[in-house]
Amino acid sequence: MTPAIQRQWRVAAHPDGRALKDSDFELATAPVAEPGPGEVLVRTEVLSFDPAQKSWMENAAGYMAPVQIGSVIPGSGAGVVQASRHPDFAPGDRVFGQLGWQEFPVLAGEALDKAPDGVSLEEVLSVLAGTGRTAYLALMRVGRPVAGDTLVISGAAGATGSLVGQIGKLAGCRVIGIAGGPEKCAWLTDKLGFDAAIDYKGEKVRSRLRELCPSGVDIFFDNVGGEILNDVLARLALKARVVICGAISRYNFDARSEAMPPGPRNYFNVVFTGASIQGFLASHYAAEFPEADARLAAWVREGRIQARADVLQGFEQAPAALMRLFEGRNIGKQILKLE
Ligand code: NAP
Repeated sequence: MTPAIQRQWRVAAHPDGRALKDSDFELATAPVAEPGPGEVLVRTEVLSFDPAQKSWMENAAGYMAPVQIGSVIPGSGAGVVQASRHPDFAPGDRVFGQLGWQEFPVLAGEALDKAPDGVSLEEVLSVLAGTGRTAYLALMRVGRPVAGDTLVISGAAGATGSLVGQIGKLAGCRVIGIAGGPEKCAWLTDKLGFDAAIDYKGEKVRSRLRELCPSGVDIFFDNVGGEILNDVLARLALKARVVICGAISRYNFDARSEAMPPGPRNYFNVVFTGASIQGFLASHYAAEFPEADARLAAWVREGRIQARADVLQGFEQAPAALMRLFEGRNIGKQILKLE
């Protein structure tokens, strides 16, 4: 039965130009709304965590509507339909979308996708939804892999990076991951089939790239920016493609302040190599989400890509789950199960 009251996490402060703190989040209660015409009431089962949520809380992401103090923290999740006034949804349907950090959201039916059969809600958030769509479309459309390419990925043991590497292997690339710590690097090579991994916390990225990529890097898929981006730019192959997907090393700085680290010193190497550097934003590729979902779901069912979810339990853990991304504590996709 649907309760009358639900819990929500709300924005208590904008974390501008600094790390997240517990006091940025407020746990509150609110009535559960009745769905209006065209709307659907969902019981949230699993929440997804993405570094971009911090920039949404800061209002630093120009592609998102401003987030006010006191509003529900935006974020994607998956759950089960409780009641529906939309013809495409019925109670019991498994759905995903921008549910926000709340137990019983009401959304327009158009804002929800149905989870494919044979894929658990955890897998939906780990391999499809924003993470999988980003990994697949950013690599295939911007990275444009060709069999035999050397593909280097930063943030490689995270949600997006670990999928990009597996998709790169399916495309016939030689895949090298850069991640923080020996445990993450061992997972990439021993379990996911990466050809090599560089522990940026314990090794010199630039000299390891020289050893591992004697003919240069054909595709660099960047999730972190900063010094790692700079080091890889020094090793580009002729006509390389650099995919700027994320830059988490910058997310605790204020974009308007002098403290923001400058851009990469080695950028001029794109002139000598004829390489391209292109940004990727998932929402620009919305028309291609169905293709990405179908391809990824098939690969999961066939066991050709592995989903690793790093699971926290309990709604009250949501702020801690988001902070784990910035502390590098997650391996694979950070999610939270409400029960
Ligand atoms: P994730 O990689 O699962 O988690 C973040 C990881 O970043 C951490 O595990 C940590 O791994 C690493 N990290 C944290 N602070 C760092 C720092 N200062 N320097 C270097 N690495 C650091 O997160 P995700 O959801 O898959 O997102 C990955 C990136 O893709 C993010 O930058 C995100 O904003 C971006 N993204 C972009 C789009 C788009 O449309 N453009 C969509 C989705 C995600 P280590 O232990 O290895 O440091």
